[in-house]
Amino acid sequence: MFDKLPISSKTERILTKSLDEQITVEEANHLMNIKGADLYPLLATADYLRQEIVGNDVTFINNCNINFTNICTVRCGFCAFGKDADDPEAYILNDEQILSKAQGAVEKGAHEFCVMGGVLPDADIEYYEHLMHLLKDEYPNVMIHGFSPTMINDACLVSGIDIAEGCERLRDAGLDTLPGTAAEILTDRSRDLICPEKVSVSEWVDIVKTAHECGIPGSATIMYGHVETLEERVEHIDVVRRLQEETHGFTEFIPMTFMHEYSPIFLEGQSDLGATGTQDLKLYAVSRLMLRDLIPNIQVSWVKMGFRFAQVALTAGTNDLGGTLGGDELSAASGAPDGVDASIGTLSRMVEDLGRNPIERNSKYTEFYPIEDTVKMPSK
Ligand code: SF4
Repeated sequence: MFDKLPISSKTERILTKSLDEQITVEEANHLMNIKGADLYPLLATADYLRQEIVGNDVTFINNCNINFTNICTVRCGFCAFGKDADDPEAYILNDEQILSKAQGAVEKGAHEFCVMGGVLPDADIEYYEHLMHLLKDEYPNVMIHGFSPTMINDACLVSGIDIAEGCERLRDAGLDTLPGTAAEILTDRSRDLICPEKVSVSEWVDIVKTAHECGIPGSATIMYGHVETLEERVEHIDVVRRLQEETHGFTEFIPMTFMHEYSPIFLEGQSDLGATGTQDLKLYAVSRLMLRDLIPNIQVSWVKMGFRFAQVALTAGTNDLGGTLGGDELSAASGAPDGVDASIGTLSRMVEDLGRNPIERNSKYTEFYPIEDTVKMPSK
């Protein structure tokens, strides 16, 4: 396949192997470090595997973010969204405000509420159950994608229950899927630098594993480009891969590039400027070669990368564009380059221009909806 291309023999050997089987951590580390003529064969290999595994459909979901509070006890070094409770900009949405956001999204055809926010002091499991009941009682057919392992951990501690009981209660209250946030980088060295108050690697793995075993599947994310090494990016993907081999509970893998501009750790001179464009593309491609069909859906975060570069990333082994989002205030606070709202038409245009098929999906990738020509008109 690579006979006529001027690539190194080691890269060629790894890419040839990847056509038939997962690559190892050592091989992934080599690919994360390639430069020059080796880059495009890597991207082409990842794109070929994407086509073999999931075909030419590019999925996304019509969803809306409900960021119910920005008050947060954790205060991660990379986050420009969380506030102290006494900050003049701190807020907690009341039931009426939450339902008003939900109603606006449903009127635009939303299939999912993404319920996220800061980690409130003293929020117990009843608090999160209440949020679920509030939305599910009114909109039983809209899936709820919500809460981080850190929130679940804190709520279980406050309520004096174990994680399994907490997950069962949230599932019974209507939680459909977990967003996979709080993963950031799954190495304790980096977590100690950027989010020392969050759950550790082993706690994150245990909580997500328990959720999967309770029947709550969800996403796995990686947030990269701040203080971690390239090897830690690969280590993270390998942690996710090993957990998926056990539970098969991840529906998608979502690389999220670090948005440095308003981030406290960047403003204090403690982080990198974020990943470069080729580092982003290599992360997507290496993820596909490591995960193959074990996690068949790899998502591009257009809200972090902007529409144009997200379209390019769809040629690096990825097959999903996330959601229309509708008010993702966490990303807005970080300086989302093209805003935080996309129309179905905007996403469809990017996909069709690549010769691929835009398809709307639900949170679990179990239902798919054809997109009518009437909603394909781009708004951006
Ligand atoms: S990323 Fe989440 S947990 Fe961390 S400070 Fe921001 S809102 Fe809080």
